[in-house]
Amino acid sequence: MAKASVVVKCSCGKSTRIQKICRNRDAADSYVSWAKSFYQYICPACEEKERVERLEEMLRTAKENGLPELTGTPKQIEWAMELRDKRMKHLDKFIESKQAGVVAAHKFATFEEYYAGLNEATPIKGKNQKEIDWQIASRLNLIKKRHLYGNLDEAVKLLKSQTDSEFWISTQELTQTEQLLYLFCSGLRDELADKYEADRKRLEQE
Ligand SMILES: [Zn+2]
Repeated sequence: MAKASVVVKCSCGKSTRIQKICRNRDAADSYVSWAKSFYQYICPACEEKERVERLEEMLRTAKENGLPELTGTPKQIEWAMELRDKRMKHLDKFIESKQAGVVAAHKFATFEEYYAGLNEATPIKGKNQKEIDWQIASRLNLIKKRHLYGNLDEAVKLLKSQTDSEFWISTQELTQTEQLLYLFCSGLRDELADKYEADRKRLEQE
């Protein structure tokens, strides 16, 4: 074991010493020469300055795009703004890709109508309960997606109006479609729950 010790410099001129335990002297020496050329040290003061600038930039962009102020603790708000900013950068492309051709096909008058139409075209038939459950779940998912893509403008408007930092943080792992489904179609399950229950009973008896 050998210790590498090297002084690195921030772009503002401040420097600090970094140390690293390496497996032998050669490795330590090569770490030192790498760090001298490539280690990017940012001192706490510069890091804070960057953070504040980034925050100001996000505030400006949000204002320009008509996005509302977020609520939560200062830490939550900052994190949520970062997440929202990232989403907004990709949203236009997402809308474009979903609107190309799919929207017209996905328009339907009511869920009931659409659901009935689907059932008529391909009736749910399962060999066992598990299979039926799976078919009903995937059908629900299909209905939700079509409902979403058929009303994309409305869904996006709803997304942009979200002011709770918690929303942006808790949905950060979701894909864009999943996030919009969660927001725009979460009530759909309740609406159709009775219908599914009726179908389930009917299929059980068949
Ligand atoms: Zn600095």
